[in-house]
Amino acid sequence: MSVRFVIDSLDFVSNESQRHGKIHVADLARLHSYLFDDDGEVTYAVTGMLNNSSKPVLRIAINGTINLCCQRCLGKLEHVLNMQTDLLLAKNENELQSYDEDDEIDCILASVDMNVISVIEDEIILNLSISSRHPKDKCSTESLNSGNQTVNALSDHPFAALAALKKTH
Ligand SMILES: [Zn+2]
Repeated sequence: MSVRFVIDSLDFVSNESQRHGKIHVADLARLHSYLFDDDGEVTYAVTGMLNNSSKPVLRIAINGTINLCCQRCLGKLEHVLNMQTDLLLAKNENELQSYDEDDEIDCILASVDMNVISVIEDEIILNLSISSRHPKDKCSTESLNSGNQTVNALSDHPFAALAALKKTH
């Protein structure tokens, strides 16, 4: 049975609500195609607040370890999640579009029945580097020697990976 945690997002912010909990990796179905196995769990904390510009945001913190599949040797690749993101809540499609033009801002459409687990899952997927591999000396196959620098740069900078993903839509 998959988990559900539904909030009225703007209400959550105006009440300055906070929720935290644990999700079994096995319950994050959309993540499975990236995984070596579905062992483990991630902890999350979601806080409703106004940002410095008095705009409503959901601050989402995610911690845990997931086992990715190395894209080179297909072996187990432990990936530590230690993320905090502020998601700006857009009140309508127009607002969403205007925020989307700014690469610095992560924005989602506010909703009265937002499934927070699904939002957390999206954030984890966006945080994964596009191509995940062991470092050369830890990988169990011969290294392919070209193109790795770009990948390493992306995995060192989750926001760069996020920006790269966004540009593909
Ligand atoms: Zn490998």
